[in-house]
Amino acid sequence: MTNKAKSHGRYHVQPSLIPKSLIEEKKLLNKVWTAKVLTLYPETFPGVLGHSITGRALKNKIWSLEIINIRNFGVGKHFNVDDTPSGGGPGMVLRADVINDTVAAATNNLDLSNKNWPIIYLTPRGKPLTQTISKELATAEGLVILCGRFEGVDERVIQKWNMQEISIGDFVLSGGEIAAQALIDCTVRHIPTVLGNEESIKSESFNNDLLEYPQYTRPTEWNDQKIPEVLLSGHHKKIREWQNQQAIKITKDRRPDLWKIYEKKL
Ligand code: SAH
Repeated sequence: MTNKAKSHGRYHVQPSLIPKSLIEEKKLLNKVWTAKVLTLYPETFPGVLGHSITGRALKNKIWSLEIINIRNFGVGKHFNVDDTPSGGGPGMVLRADVINDTVAAATNNLDLSNKNWPIIYLTPRGKPLTQTISKELATAEGLVILCGRFEGVDERVIQKWNMQEISIGDFVLSGGEIAAQALIDCTVRHIPTVLGNEESIKSESFNNDLLEYPQYTRPTEWNDQKIPEVLLSGHHKKIREWQNQQAIKITKDRRPDLWKIYEKKL
C-alpha cells in the first residue's frame, strides 16, 4: 500500500480558504473533531458551515475543518483527475490513482486502525443519512469526506479504503460538496457545547423517532390567529403534554415509517 503521494512537488495539503481565520488548525486543534474534506472545489468551503452555530463553533475551535484539493494530485501537465467510464456511457469518472493519492495524503498522520477516522464517500447509492448516524459520527475523532463529481469515483479506490458510502437523500446532486456540508452540519451539532442550549437537540425532530411539535413566538396574535393557549399558560407539564401530542400527530400523518418505530417502543 503506498501511503505517499507520488510527487512530493504536488504534495500539499492546502487548508483552504477564505476566511482564513476560520480554518487555522494543527497544533491547537489536534484534539478537536475534524472534518477533512477532499474536493475539486475547495472554494466552496466553509460555505454555510462558516455561519451561525457551526461557524461560531469553528471560530471557537470546538471543531476544525481541513480542505484538501483533489486537483493537487492530478496527473500530467494538466493535473487530470478524471477519465471516460470503462465500458462506455456518459460523463467522466474520478480516477482511482488520483483519489488514492489524495486520501493517502489526507490520512498519512492518522491511525486508521481503530475506526476513529471513518472515510466517507458521499453518493446517492449510499446508506441514507439519519440523525442516528450523525450522532455516531460525532463520537469519532473526525471524518475524511470524499466529495464526488461527474459520474462518481472509480470503484477500486472506494473498496481499497473501505469507504462508508452515505447518501443525503434520494436525489442526484451535481457534486458531493453540498452533501458534505449537510453531513458536517448535522454531525457537529452533536458535539457538546456547539449548541448553546443542550436541551434543543433533545427536543428536535428525530429524537425519540418523533418529528418536532409546532413552534410559535411573538406576536401572540398574528393574521387573526392566536398562539395555542396552553403555550401561554406557564403550566410546564401541560405544555410538554401538548407538545408531545402534537409531535405524535405530525409524525403519524407525515411519516408512518417513523411512527411504526416509535409505536414499537411504547
Ligand atoms: N452517477 C452517480 C451520480 C453522480 S452525482 C449515480 O448515478 O449514482 C456526482 C457526485 O455528487 C457523486 O459522486 C456524489 O459525491 C455527489 N452526490 C450526488 N447526489 C448525492 C446524494 N444524494 N448524496 C450524497 N452525495 C451525492
